[in-house]
Amino acid sequence: MPDLSVHLLTTYIANHKLKLEPYLVLVGAMFPDILGRVFIVLWPQNYVLNWVSVLLHSPILVLLGVYLAVMLFRESERKVCFLALSIGALGHLLLDMLQRHYRPSYYWFFPFTFRTFEIPLFWSDEFVLTIPFWFLLTVLIWRRTHRQSLVRRPTNFD
Ligand SMILES: [Zn+2]
Repeated sequence: MPDLSVHLLTTYIANHKLKLEPYLVLVGAMFPDILGRVFIVLWPQNYVLNWVSVLLHSPILVLLGVYLAVMLFRESERKVCFLALSIGALGHLLLDMLQRHYRPSYYWFFPFTFRTFEIPLFWSDEFVLTIPFWFLLTVLIWRRTHRQSLVRRPTNFD
């Protein structure tokens, strides 16, 4: 998996155009790792649950997890929440797909098949080298978006 900061920064940049609820999209960008890591953290010695955590990086199970998570929201907000969390989570999976592995890792078409699908362009540590670029781009976009609110407003003391 690429570094979590790469997931968050690229998602923020992509959401600049999508204009979905930023916090939900960013949570969505972490969602597959949160979903998968719960089992590893709670039962690190359980081989079966570790394997299940790998399967939880497949789109259908991630979307199912998002669907269940969205049930925590008010009914009127669920559609927007599902869309934002799903976009963030699917962006996470797309970025993960670009990573090289020594063994089969991401089962994109589970539960239909156990064949893996990846476009192995980068090793996971190579993503870390791109962080300064993504960070700079994020700051530029953030500044451009918040330019109006950064302008000093006159106060009662002026
Ligand atoms: Zn991941």
